[in-house]
Amino acid sequence: MRAEQLSTQELKKGILDGNTVTLSRAITLIESSLAADKSQASELLQSIVPYTGKSIRVGISGVPGAGKSTFIEALGTSLTTSGKKVAVLAVDPSSTRTGGSILGDKTRMEKLSKDPLAYVRPTPTGGHSGGVAGKTREAILLCEAAGFHVVLVETVGVGQTEMTVRGMVDFFMLLMIAGAGDELQGIKKGILELADGIAINKADGDNIERARRAQSDLQHALHLVMSGDEHWKAPVLTCSSTTMTGISKIWETIQAFEQQGKSDGSILLNRKSQNLLWMEESFAALIEESKTQSDTIRQRRQQLEQQVGDLSIYPPEGARLLWQEFLKGL
Ligand code: GDP
Repeated sequence: MRAEQLSTQELKKGILDGNTVTLSRAITLIESSLAADKSQASELLQSIVPYTGKSIRVGISGVPGAGKSTFIEALGTSLTTSGKKVAVLAVDPSSTRTGGSILGDKTRMEKLSKDPLAYVRPTPTGGHSGGVAGKTREAILLCEAAGFHVVLVETVGVGQTEMTVRGMVDFFMLLMIAGAGDELQGIKKGILELADGIAINKADGDNIERARRAQSDLQHALHLVMSGDEHWKAPVLTCSSTTMTGISKIWETIQAFEQQGKSDGSILLNRKSQNLLWMEESFAALIEESKTQSDTIRQRRQQLEQQVGDLSIYPPEGARLLWQEFLKGL
C-alpha cells in the first residue's frame, strides 16, 4: 500500500481541488496507525489548516432506528439540490471496541452516496486508535479543505459518544421518535442540555399526533433544564424523513443558529475551546503513548508503581520522579 502512496503535496492539491478520491485516501492515511503514515498525516493536516473552518459542522445523534441515515439522506439531498456540497462522517461507538459497526453498511444513504455534490465516508470498521472519536475531527478539517459547505457527523446515542460529537461540531441535534420511551432514548437531563435542536422524526401517517405530543412534552422538559439566559433556545421540531416534511424547517433552524453564532461570535468561541481541549487530549495521548513505548520509562514506571504500592514513596513524589524520567527522554 505504501508503494502507491501519494506525496503530501499531491494529497493537498487533490483535496483543495475537491477530489473525493484523494479525500478518501487522505482520510485513510489519517486513520492509519503506522508511524510513517502518522507523520505524513500531521504534515498534511498542518498544511491544509489555512483552508479549513468554513463549513457548518452539524452533529446528529439518535438511537438505532430513529431514522438518522434516512434523515441525513433527506437533508443531504435537499442541500445538494440547492447546490451545497455535503459531507457525511460517522462516529460509531461500536467500531473501535468490537470491530463491528452499528452505523456502517454500504446500503445506507444510497442516493447521497451517488450524489456528485455529496461525500459519504463509510464508518471505519475499527482498528484505529483514539477512542470513539477516531479521527473524525481530522476528517472534518479535510472535508472543509475540500470545499464542503456542510459537514454532518452522525452518531448513535449511547451517552459518551454524544459528548464526543458535541465537542467537535457547531450545532448538535438529537433525532428522536415519539413513543420509544424517554429512558430508551437516553433522554436524561445531561443529554438534553447538549442539544442545540431536537427533531422528532417519523411524524407522518397516524404517527403525527403522537409526534406532536412528544414535541410538547419535550418542549416542557427543555424548559425545565434550561436556565433561560442562554443565547440560543433549543427548539423542538417534528419531521418526516420519508415524506420530507419539516426537513427544510430544520435546515432553516440550523442556518438561524449559524447566523446568530457568527454575529455574536459564539461559534468561533466554541471552536476555539474545542481546539484547546483537543490539544489537551492530544498532549495526554502523547504522554500515554510514551509511557508504553519507551523501555526506560516503562521500567522506571513499574519500579515506581511498586514503591508507591507499598507506600515507600508518597504517590505525588512517584509522579514527579516519573515526570523527570520523561523529561530526560525528550
Ligand atoms: P438509523 O438506525 O437511525 O440510521 O435509522 P434508519 O434511517 O435506518 O431508519 C430506520 C427505519 O425507520 C427504516 O425502516 C426507515 O425506513 C424508517 N424511517 C426513517 N425515517 C422515517 C420517517 O420519517 N417516517 C417513517 N414512517 N419511517 C422512517
